[in-house]
Formats: sequence, structure tokens, C-alpha cells
Amino acid sequence: MSLRPTLDFLLYHWLDAPSLSQRARFADHSRETFDAVLDTCERIAREKYAPFNRVVDTQEPHFDGEKVILPQATHDAHKAFVESGMMSAAQGYDIGGMQLPYTVQAAANSFFAMASVSIGSNMLTSGNANLLLVHGTEMQKDVFAKNEFSGRWAGTMCLSEPQAGSSLSDVATRAVPDEAPSVAADGAVPWDQDPLGPRYRLTGNKMWISSGDHELTENIVHIVLAKIPDENGKLVPGTRGISLFIVPKKMVDTEGRLTGERNDVALAGLNHKLGWRGTTNTLLNFGEGKYPVAGQAGAVGYLVGQPGKGLHCMFHMMNEARIGVGMAATMLGMAGY
Ligand SMILES: Cc1cc2nc3c(=O)[nH]c(=O)nc-3n(C[C@H](O)[C@H](O)[C@H](O)COP(=O)(O)OP(=O)(O)OC[C@H]3O[C@@H](n4cnc5c(N)ncnc54)[C@H](O)[C@@H]3O)c2cc1C
Repeated sequence: MSLRPTLDFLLYHWLDAPSLSQRARFADHSRETFDAVLDTCERIAREKYAPFNRVVDTQEPHFDGEKVILPQATHDAHKAFVESGMMSAAQGYDIGGMQLPYTVQAAANSFFAMASVSIGSNMLTSGNANLLLVHGTEMQKDVFAKNEFSGRWAGTMCLSEPQAGSSLSDVATRAVPDEAPSVAADGAVPWDQDPLGPRYRLTGNKMWISSGDHELTENIVHIVLAKIPDENGKLVPGTRGISLFIVPKKMVDTEGRLTGERNDVALAGLNHKLGWRGTTNTLLNFGEGKYPVAGQAGAVGYLVGQPGKGLHCMFHMMNEARIGVGMAATMLGMAGY
């Protein structure tokens, strides 16, 4: 079944998407530009996604003890997606986007989900970067969000733990101020003056993390929920104790360059799934000391927003992910139909 007539009906006959171009932000757009985006995504999905749907299901990701191995098709599909500009399609021109209405971006992305639902996890990368655009500092946007939108780095969302799924108030990952000045992204400054954000050391385990490790990109930006202990060293009960941190897989400087040092985030193992098998799903150990930073165990994380407001910030990404997951499930149904 072809998806295009359904999208045309929804976008043009039901939603009247071209009327959005009356708004200043979308003034350069029209049905012609929307059609061009849909044509491009339909073609990439046909050439780089659909033929490999079975491959990514039968050749599950595996861990060789050092790296996660994915089929070449996944690398090729990721490259084609990034080169199409779809990672930042809805973003402003100032950060390399197309200022495409979100509605059209979501419609265009549905071609990929229908062709092969699990070959990519770009939704996590753009959702992670969008969260930082809203809640991050200017430096966090420049260093992390922009490198995600360009496709150079990928993103994750790290909420769940082995004992905390729906019940996020049970999160037990701890974040304590990092007193080691040599870790600073821009010289030896105290932990609370690090240009990338107040710097903490995280310890804990995150379970079910999608795209938590792979070699598709140069770096992975984990967005992690953790609790800052109170003055007695106790974790604040409930969700109001939760804060949010950027924890890069590899350490970076203020120009977005890799420093050459690994952060203390270790892949404990891959989870195997019945479906959606093309995307890795991981158990990540933060701060266990496998990759000490500046000689110390503890994953380096930079605070996003205010302490104790982490869940509020995280929901920016969660809400976007809900739309993406719902859309993907619908497209899987369309593909089956
Ligand atoms: C494929 C996949 C990818 C995932 N990717 C990520 C990811 O990238 N990042 C991440 O952080 N997490 C991820 N998760 C984890 C996901 O967010 C959790 O599975 C989810 O939050 C549910 O938690 P749980 O599995 O522990 O189930 P539980 O919380 O144990 O729930 C089990 C059942 O109990 C019900 N239940 C729970 N609490 C209540 C209640 N108070 N009242 C009534 N019923 C209740 C639930 O509805 C459910 O039916 C992923 C999971 C899967 C399967």
C-alpha cells in the first residue's frame, strides 16, 4: 500500500498545511517545497530503508566486547538521513534547519518508519537536541544540540533503571559535585563554573536505553535523570529530587571537539527484543570506574536547568518521543496492512 496518497489527503485536504506559510516563520514554504521534502524522504526510504528491513531484523546488533556492531545497511541509512537535512528540518535557518512546519516533518518521517521501523533512532537525537534548545544554556546548545542536529553526534534519553520504570521517583542514580578541576572543559575552573554547565559525577545503572551504544556517530549525548543527595548524603524522595544531566560518551571541549578521553559510561550489555530489533537497547553503567576521567571513577555530567527540575525538562523530550513512537507504531500497522 502506498503511503503518499494518504499523506497528501491528510496534509492538503484535511489539515490545509500550505496555509501555514502565512506565518512569518514558514513564509518561504509552499506546497511545492513540502512536496519536494516528501519526494526526497519517500525516495530515501525506498532505496535505503525498505530493502534492508529484513536484514536489520535477522542481523541483530551485537557487542564484540569493545564495540557494538550494526549491519552496514544501518550505517548507510543513517548517512542518507543526515545528508537529507531531516534531522534539523523543523529548526531555524540559524542552526542549519529548513524551518519546515513540524506537521510536515512528522509526515515526511513516516516514510522511514513504514519502510523499516527500527533501522534508525533519529527521533531520539532530534528530541534530545530539541530539549537542549529549550532548557540548555547557550553553550550547551552550541556544543551539544548543534552537533546532534548536524548528525555528527547522536542522542539518548536515560530515565529507566532496573528498579525504576513507570515509577521514576525510585531513580537511584546519584550525582555529586565534581571537585576535580582538571576535568573542566575550559581550563581548571571549579565544578560550578564549568562552561559546559555545573559539573557533577554520576554513578548508577540505566536500563532499556535505546541507542545507548553504537558506532554510527562520533559521539553519543546521553540525557540522564539522576538525584543530587541532600546535605546528609540522602537522596530526596519522590520526583522532586530528580535533576537532569548531559553525559557525553566521550569528553568534549567548549568548541565541540573530542578531547580524546572516554567518559565513565560503560555498556554492560545489549537487551534482545522480539521486535524493533535494528536499534540497540542497552544496560549502561555510569561511573563504575571502567573509564576513569582524570584518574577518578564517576561519569562526568553537566546539569541542565535547575536542580530538582529534571523531570520537567525531560518531559519536553518525552512528549516529542510519544508522538514519534505513536507515529512509528501506526506506520508499522500501515506496512502490515
Ligand atoms: C523497546 C523499549 C525501548 C525503551 N527505551 C527506553 C529509553 O530509551 N530510555 C528509557 O529511559 N527507557 C526506555 N524504555 C523503558 C520504558 O520507558 C519502560 O519500560 C517503561 O517506563 C515501563 O517501565 P517498566 O518496564 O519497568 O514497567 P513497570 O513500570 O514495571 O510496569 C509494568 C506494568 O505495570 C503497570 N503499572 C505500573 N505502575 C502502575 C501503577 N502505579 N498503577 C497501575 N499500573 C501500573 C504498567 O502499566 C505495566 O503494565 C524502553 C522500553 C522498551 C520496551
